[in-house]
Amino acid sequence: MADPERRWCFADQLGPHFLDRKDQPVLLIESRAVLRRRRFHRQKAHLVLSALRHRAAELGDQALFVQAGTYREALARVRGPLTVCGPTSRAAAEFTAGLDGVTVLPSRGFATGREHFEEWAAGRDGSHLLMESFYRGARRATGTLMDGDGPAGGRWNLDKENREPPPPDGELPLPTPYRPEEDAIDAEVREYLDAAERRGEMSFVGRDGPRRFPATRTEARRALRHFVENRLPTFGPYEDAMLAADPAMSHSFLSAALNLGLLDPMECVRAAERAWREGAVPLRSAEGFVRQVLGWREYMWHVYWHFGRGYARRNALRARRRLPRWFAELDADSVDARCLSSVLRNVRDQGWTHHIPRLMVLGNYALQRGWHPAELSDWFHRCFVDGYEWVMAGNVIGMSQYADGGRIVTKPYAAGGSYINRMSDFCHDCVYRPTARTGEEACPYTGGYWWFLARNEERLSGNWRLAPQLRNLRRIDGLDDVVANERARRRP
Ligand SMILES: Cc1cc2nc3c(=O)[nH]c(=O)nc-3n(C[C@H](O)[C@H](O)[C@H](O)COP(=O)(O)OP(=O)(O)OC[C@H]3O[C@@H](n4cnc5c(N)ncnc54)[C@H](O)[C@@H]3O)c2cc1C
Repeated sequence: MADPERRWCFADQLGPHFLDRKDQPVLLIESRAVLRRRRFHRQKAHLVLSALRHRAAELGDQALFVQAGTYREALARVRGPLTVCGPTSRAAAEFTAGLDGVTVLPSRGFATGREHFEEWAAGRDGSHLLMESFYRGARRATGTLMDGDGPAGGRWNLDKENREPPPPDGELPLPTPYRPEEDAIDAEVREYLDAAERRGEMSFVGRDGPRRFPATRTEARRALRHFVENRLPTFGPYEDAMLAADPAMSHSFLSAALNLGLLDPMECVRAAERAWREGAVPLRSAEGFVRQVLGWREYMWHVYWHFGRGYARRNALRARRRLPRWFAELDADSVDARCLSSVLRNVRDQGWTHHIPRLMVLGNYALQRGWHPAELSDWFHRCFVDGYEWVMAGNVIGMSQYADGGRIVTKPYAAGGSYINRMSDFCHDCVYRPTARTGEEACPYTGGYWWFLARNEERLSGNWRLAPQLRNLRRIDGLDDVVANERARRRP
């Protein structure tokens, strides 16, 4: 007779905090359909399978590990009732809710509950749901970086100190980020994916390479420790900067481990706070990191559920162009613009790049060109090791593409080459000039920025934050030529 308390854990619920007891019986399912349905980055497919199989091996007899074509086929082989923590996608939530014998529990893996967000959102009265205000509530609710009733250090937000351009010598003097060592399970996964690809059962985007992200709880904890000791001290000042030779800079590389459920967000937050209280890192770095995890990550999770199914299809700017092949295929070598080529190369070779390249290089380019937001969302979901459906709603649809018409940000994240020039070292060695709008050297981001404004002038006319730029638009010499050049541009 099956144990009545068997906990079904999805492949992004792999940490101990998804169980009620250390010795609780577990069900793990590896469904081939998930990897066949979409063309994922090869390294993402590897990471997810490796993490799932490592968890099965670690649990031994405690886990029933079923490898099957679909979840339904797998469940048909399991006897007895199951419990499952609320899954992270709407489709999986609906699927589990409709199954006999499966009890769905509240979600885990986040620091704040749904009711916390809904109560806060209800108090906004239909106005913008800005992350900053949610974040302050989350700090209070979890007692993070607080001194009594107020923020530690007297200020909630240290962003102004945290927007430094990159250091002039082109890299930060830091040890390389934590890298796990592959083992026999990774070798098995590689062989399995190679064979599935050869048989035409699965197809991938991006290049294979050594696994760079944690697949076990032990590796994830090592990665967190390594980050706090080595990179957190400089996380704050350089969090928005980009360097061609140093894509990691001071970032934590923890998103994949967090999203697989190998780390609990509060343990990351507490580790950063502890390092600050012990005097090992400045407040601006600790706060900057806490803001990412307890602010942005939590906020994006709730945005996904709050706005409902239709949000992923929002297209307020009527952007309908298809993603070009070179972008979809991560063909970095065919791109001349140094920023885009470098960032696309990072995605191709490791399925990761930090926040600003995602927003201001990849997302910005798509926004300027009017690429379809849902198609772009699918691309981000598939091509990044940390990509999941819940992350796409707020980050891609809302923040990066302004496809919700400004529910979560006050203006579109569109910027010309001068922003990229200020925050990176990409431009000085580029064939394009960030200040040029026309001619051979016209920077695709600068021309693209004016094209974006010209195309959306009417739709954005009520946005007070864009009013100065929209006024400037009509003063641009040869605007029609700029627009025509950008419209005709095939590849940047
Ligand atoms: C267009 C776009 C797409 C994105 N897609 C993803 C994605 O698929 N998966 C993902 O986890 N993050 C995504 N992000 C958020 C962010 O870029 C990544 O979390 C971060 O770059 C991961 O690298 P890191 O672990 O070194 O992060 P750090 O810079 O070290 O930040 C620490 C942690 O904060 C969390 N975090 C910070 N910002 C966000 C955010 N906006 N949303 C969710 N979590 C956040 C992550 O868990 C991250 O590990 C996206 C952002 C944009 C603008």
